[in-house]
Amino acid sequence: KEELNIIQGALELRTKTVEDVMTPLSNCFMIHIDAVLDFNTMSEIMQSGYTRIPVYDEERSNIVDILYVKDLAFVDPDDCTTLKTITKFYNHPVHFVFHDTKLDSMLEEFKKGKSHLAIVQKVNNEGEGDPFYEVLGLVTLEDVIEEIIKSEILDE
Ligand code: ADP
Repeated sequence: KEELNIIQGALELRTKTVEDVMTPLSNCFMIHIDAVLDFNTMSEIMQSGYTRIPVYDEERSNIVDILYVKDLAFVDPDDCTTLKTITKFYNHPVHFVFHDTKLDSMLEEFKKGKSHLAIVQKVNNEGEGDPFYEVLGLVTLEDVIEEIIKSEILDE
């Protein structure tokens, strides 16, 4: 039974898209680029429980960086370091994918190992203005694996 589920999940990787399994932007835990890494901000980050946190400028749809929680290892909350100092230092690449990317190609991308988190975007050409890239959410390796095993992975 379990095996059948997994086989079915694996077969569906070719038809399902990252948009089907992503975490929508409204549910993403993110941090503003101008944040100061004081005790409050650092506690919020820790309490969120996430290991990678998108950093946005002005609007939540404008993701400019990714903060890894491990980047905070040497940060002393009493120094009130700015987030910018940290993100400039580590300078992690932000990996974008199109919303209609199939899960099998996404899995191949993740296997290459650059990052196990990608920002999902689409070209929005509705309305009057010029087309623009619209951010829809984020997808991680865990989202893809859950699709294969067809069940939630509970975090510790
Ligand atoms: P983590 O290592 O932070 O627990 P995972 O890659 O294991 O993240 O993903 C677990 C789930 O959490 C996935 O569904 C993923 O889409 C979601 N997720 C990851 N990072 C964030 C974030 N910053 N805000 C909201 N959801 C996130």
